[in-house]
Amino acid sequence: MAANKPRAVVSGGAGFIGSHLCEALLARGVRVLALDNFITGSPENLRHLTPNPEFEFRQADVNHGVFIGGDVRYVLHFASPASPPQYDANPIHTLKVGTIGTMNMLGLARAKNATFLLASTSEVYGDPLVHPQPETYWGNVNPIGPRGCYDEAKRCAEAYAMAYRRSHKVDTRIIRIFNTHGPRMQVSDGRAIPNFMAQAIRGEPLTVYGEGSQTRSICYVSDLVRGVLAVLDKGDELPVNLGNPQEVTVLELAETIIRLAQSKSRIEHKALPVDDPKQRRSDITHARELLGWQLEIGL
Ligand code: UDP
Repeated sequence: MAANKPRAVVSGGAGFIGSHLCEALLARGVRVLALDNFITGSPENLRHLTPNPEFEFRQADVNHGVFIGGDVRYVLHFASPASPPQYDANPIHTLKVGTIGTMNMLGLARAKNATFLLASTSEVYGDPLVHPQPETYWGNVNPIGPRGCYDEAKRCAEAYAMAYRRSHKVDTRIIRIFNTHGPRMQVSDGRAIPNFMAQAIRGEPLTVYGEGSQTRSICYVSDLVRGVLAVLDKGDELPVNLGNPQEVTVLELAETIIRLAQSKSRIEHKALPVDDPKQRRSDITHARELLGWQLEIGL
């Protein structure tokens, strides 16, 4: 392994976005150590990278401390359950990885004098009262609702990053990831896109929660990962939204997937989950101005 190449530590490296990020880092000549405890990630997502001598994997829970020998240039914290059913099933773990896990990863960055990047989320805006959401919006989160474990953990993670920057001069970055899709999402993770795709292909009804009038803006994973790397290179202390600046209703999304899959599935309305955000669209002015980032793929 070439010791003169920069090295990155990626928590959640076996997850959907984490695994694409590992790939992109390797492609730009960065050595990668991926960490994952497989609560929601999968070894399958990294199998194609294991023959690469620049890639290492360690099964580890970052909540228990992160001790790594050798130099580290970048620390990227992507570990967390991220779909509503998954964090609902693991609320304490979700809180821990956003708080204690973030603190441990920041401690690693501090010890190694590395740049730290936090994968935060559009969920910090909660059920937003400002639309579309710019980074300056402080959000509308219900701390005691079922999404509180994720939303508040990520808000706390952002506060941790800022505290380490202010107190320990760690070079930090924060990205806020809006809905993203692409290969390696778990079919069973419960999010709209994998649910609808699987249902359409199987000829089952597409389960639209509520009327389906709630909106999301949905980014393709390759666009997102390009944005992550741009923030790593050119970002500053301010959070950067990364997402699609165009929104669709959930009903339109279901109808589009039925059409693209040439499926005979129908739509079945189910109860809307508690605190499901009614509208969400990323304002990406900051990313465009700071990084020159925009989508190549889109929905
Ligand atoms: N949704 C839906 N049917 C499903 C799964 C999700 O109608 O089978 C809705 C969900 O209520 C939300 C939107 O799709 O309004 C996006 O949900 P997802 O779980 O993908 O992510 P979220 O943006 O809520 O974190």
